Amino acid sequence: MRRLAHSGAVKTLIFLTAGFVLPWANTAWAAGNIHKRPYGTTAAGAAVDEYTLTNASGMEVKIITYGGTVTSIKVPDRNGNMANVVLGFSDLNSYETRSPYFGCIIGRYGNRIAKGKFTLEGQEYTLAANNGPNSLHGGNVGFDKKVWAATEVRDMSGVGVSLTYTSPDMEEGYPGTLNMKVVYTLTDNNELKIDYTATTDKPTVFNPTNHSYFNLAGEGSGPIYDEVLWMAADKFTPVDSTLIPTGTLAPVAGTAFDFTVPKVLGPAIHSNDPQVVIGKGIDHNLVLNRRSASDKSMMLGARLYDPQSGRIMETWTTEPGIQVYTGNFLDGSLYGPSGRAYRQGAAITFETQHFPDSPNHPNFPSTELKPGQTFRSSTIHKFLVD
Ligand code: BGC
Repeated sequence: MRRLAHSGAVKTLIFLTAGFVLPWANTAWAAGNIHKRPYGTTAAGAAVDEYTLTNASGMEVKIITYGGTVTSIKVPDRNGNMANVVLGFSDLNSYETRSPYFGCIIGRYGNRIAKGKFTLEGQEYTLAANNGPNSLHGGNVGFDKKVWAATEVRDMSGVGVSLTYTSPDMEEGYPGTLNMKVVYTLTDNNELKIDYTATTDKPTVFNPTNHSYFNLAGEGSGPIYDEVLWMAADKFTPVDSTLIPTGTLAPVAGTAFDFTVPKVLGPAIHSNDPQVVIGKGIDHNLVLNRRSASDKSMMLGARLYDPQSGRIMETWTTEPGIQVYTGNFLDGSLYGPSGRAYRQGAAITFETQHFPDSPNHPNFPSTELKPGQTFRSSTIHKFLVD
């Protein structure tokens, strides 16, 4: 496909067609590159590929088909020095056996469902309790542990990889055959765009996300305590001792979760706010300031800034919430490509999604997906410098 699109004849044809017929005649296909290589074989014998995406300004993103995992994002600092700003591993076996969801696609349900139970259209469903009494990130074998089918994508906005997975009816206890597609696109504006679509043949609940752990100073460079966070969130969802939302939308004003003005992360993570004590740091869903429940426009939800390197990441999303998790359970036992241990606070996640445990909270935006509907969700992580 790539070779074909680049062949002179095809290019000339596209140019001529565009020039005479189409309104976007002066625009061109994105300048980036896609490189595919075999990455390894799972314990079960499945072949896993790695796709390396690069754009015109040299930003580079690596994605493996195991878990649809983003294994590396290299972006420049204010002096043009590149660093990988996500936590990860350098081998497939580590992703298979010890990953705390580094960089992967989470499904069917991002974050927790209380006691692994929910009721839909009068029928109760039971999921694996894989996190204390609760179900976390889709159960024992979630989408993070599947090998996804991949195809290369190239258009005017960027280069990417399209991943598909069909989840059978009742997989991990969730009803309906779910056909899911995730398209990762790297644009020439240093954006990693993630587009999710899905359909089902029975009513179900669905709440996918990506679980990248960001550290703008570079993976393995130490804690994110000096990085500065701003969020478009006047409210958050407080949790009980098992990290299940109590159901209230509480104002962030006067709490450690108030990032409505940019704040250094360290003091918030170390505060004695009772909610921070429960989470051992920040491990909470922040409620984005939306005009209405039906507002699914792409909005700027979070802006992370590393004063030392000058790197900035903006997270834009169509989702109503962002689960912010400050790597509270990292204990120094995992090492990344840098060879340095990942300790508590080594990174921060921005899991754009619906709120945790929504199927058990009718007051939260609904995560139900019905036959005939197409689920759509998009998130952009945009990298800049000061
Ligand atoms: C959860 C954390 C959990 C982590 C897994 C986050 O989405 O909120 O509680 O430990 O994922 O690595």
